[in-house]
Amino acid sequence: MNDPTVNQSTFKPSAESTSPPLWLLAELTYRCPLQCAYCSNPLAFTRYQNELDSEAWFSVLRQARAMGAAQLGFSGGEPLIRQDLEALVREARTLGFYTNLLTSGVGLTAQRVDALAEAGLDHIQISLQAADPELAQVLAGSAKAHANKLAMAKAVKAAGYPMVLNVVLHRHNIDQIGELIALCDELGADAVELANCQYYGWAFLNRQALMPTREQLVRAEAETNRWRETLAARGRDMSLLFVVPDYFEQAPKACMGGWGSIFMTVAPDGAVLPCHSARELPMAFPNVKETSLQDIWYQSDAFNRFRGTQWMPTLCQQCDERDKDHGGCRCQAYLLTGDMNATDPVCQHSPQHGLLESLIAENAQSAPEQAPLIPRNARQSKQLQTKQLQSQGGSAAPSPRQTPELIYRQ
Ligand code: SF4
Ligand code: SF4
Repeated sequence: MNDPTVNQSTFKPSAESTSPPLWLLAELTYRCPLQCAYCSNPLAFTRYQNELDSEAWFSVLRQARAMGAAQLGFSGGEPLIRQDLEALVREARTLGFYTNLLTSGVGLTAQRVDALAEAGLDHIQISLQAADPELAQVLAGSAKAHANKLAMAKAVKAAGYPMVLNVVLHRHNIDQIGELIALCDELGADAVELANCQYYGWAFLNRQALMPTREQLVRAEAETNRWRETLAARGRDMSLLFVVPDYFEQAPKACMGGWGSIFMTVAPDGAVLPCHSARELPMAFPNVKETSLQDIWYQSDAFNRFRGTQWMPTLCQQCDERDKDHGGCRCQAYLLTGDMNATDPVCQHSPQHGLLESLIAENAQSAPEQAPLIPRNARQSKQLQTKQLQSQGGSAAPSPRQTPELIYRQ
């Protein structure tokens, strides 16, 4: 419920008190050949097929750079699907961005790595699903992807880039963590992000199937520490970053460094979001097809909605941490409580923190096969939208508690 003591109306920090964006995430497309059940794309991704063309993306890049953004990530979906990726990288380089490509590696070839390097790409990160090809195939929904990823990781390094690998950990692959690190070591990786799944988008839908037990998490972190010691003893310089799932924490993260503080996402259809998950909140977001990035960042209701502290529930307003964690993640608050204004339940002070303790305890009792993984694909996305419309009696607007995830699991 909204806190009645908080003014929920149209508080707007002035443009003078708002810093410029530093990061731009360009989600070039929601199309992807893989079907990861933990994908953070919106469940209704098939609704947004009208992608920005090259000229529109050039304009986005120029506007963002003129505003002060210096870091640029190209992601998706699978950004390699866009045939204009090299042209976009070239333009970004000319503008002076530091560019990063976040890819599954599917669709990459050694020639394309060279073309991207020639265009000026600074950094590439490739994601892996599992240590063994069989599980990787089940998780990605592709028989060929795993081998291609391994080959492309080597091609990236051969082209002079550091090899940076990312693995989303969850109940089905977390017990392979030793084998995963060994595989990365064997490949010659320079940095490995072992990122436990966070529950947004398709991962929220598949939460029951993906959530590890506390014992699995503890074992995985201990195994990572053992590997750190082994690598150090060998003088091997491969960094291992282990990211714990928010649900198992006691304090919330300072999501995106604060809503509309430093980070801006442009979605494939031109919607501008404070983070890539925000699209599933029950609010409207402006679009670069109609409004300049400058106006969106400084003037729009969407970007001003959760800036500052005035929107916060009393609990957060009276807490010393409010300027550090900004009350936690709005998407997490919404998905867990149905109220995007609530304190993030990850916070131990939240009256709803017990929800997470219960979820962890319940999940520990269930066997993995009790909740089959729902793949992220166009057919499932369309089914979800149909189901959502039916539950809303044909209305396009969801009520706060009718998120697609909640409806689907009913
Ligand atoms: S998480 Fe998987 S399905 Fe989603 S965009 Fe990345 S590779 Fe594609
Ligand atoms: S009460 Fe609010 S501001 Fe304080 S630690 Fe929790 S989420 Fe952060």
